[in-house]
Amino acid sequence: MTRRTFLAECASLCALTMAPSPAMAETTGELDFPLLDLHVHLDNSTIDKVLEIAGQRGVKFGIVEHAGTKENIYPVVLSNDDELRGYLAMLDGKPVYKGVQAEWTDWMGCFSPEMLGKLDYILTDAMTMPGPGGRRMKLWELGAVIGEAQDFMDRYVAWHVSIMEKEPLDIFANVSWLPGGLAPDYDALWTESRMRQVIDAAVKHNVALEISSGFKLPKIQFLQLAKAAGVKFVFGSNGRYPKMGELAYSIEMAKKLGLRKSDMFTPAPDGQKAAQRRLK
Ligand SMILES: [Zn+2]
Repeated sequence: MTRRTFLAECASLCALTMAPSPAMAETTGELDFPLLDLHVHLDNSTIDKVLEIAGQRGVKFGIVEHAGTKENIYPVVLSNDDELRGYLAMLDGKPVYKGVQAEWTDWMGCFSPEMLGKLDYILTDAMTMPGPGGRRMKLWELGAVIGEAQDFMDRYVAWHVSIMEKEPLDIFANVSWLPGGLAPDYDALWTESRMRQVIDAAVKHNVALEISSGFKLPKIQFLQLAKAAGVKFVFGSNGRYPKMGELAYSIEMAKKLGLRKSDMFTPAPDGQKAAQRRLK
């Protein structure tokens, strides 16, 4: 055996026999935590069909149904304890986390703290914002009134902070998303000061930030600041059937940032969820 073949043999043997250790993970680019997609919607599908996809992709899902008053228009909106109980029963025994996507600012009044405490987590985003007259405005819809970009950004950042201050949230989703006309100016509009305001609120209120593969957001600079500040992260697809569990962007960013298991949010144990910490 020449030195060359010996080294080649050794390399392939080592590759076979050495289990990846946390110390190695950084150099091999492997993640040291299981893949979760905590932003999965059941719209136009069923839990059993969605579970087939979870198996195919090797990703554990967290299901989020919309929750709030019936003034929020979605295929399903859970609006009271009985509806929430029915939703939890539908998911009972399934290998998924049970969450909701909270809508607008008045959703807490729809449910008792006890029922909210039965969820694994509560997620929301800032994409519905007060518009003219303070009425709820879905920023992704045609006709949303955005106005002057800098003024919009200041109000939008304040809206993020206000949501995290006032609502018992575990996860903030679709972070840094911008309405269509502003998206090309993302890098200029998300100044460091604006990013820091959102990140500081997340740290202060113990809210995890989503790395969205659906939107490919936030961008790396935002995520670097968030990581340095000690934010916990979540992967999310915002996927409707059959797009759930597609996490390419989230995984790519996690590898670039060198995220470890300790950087990742997992649903809190009973008694420590946001609804239980903050609705007393
Ligand atoms: Zn969603």
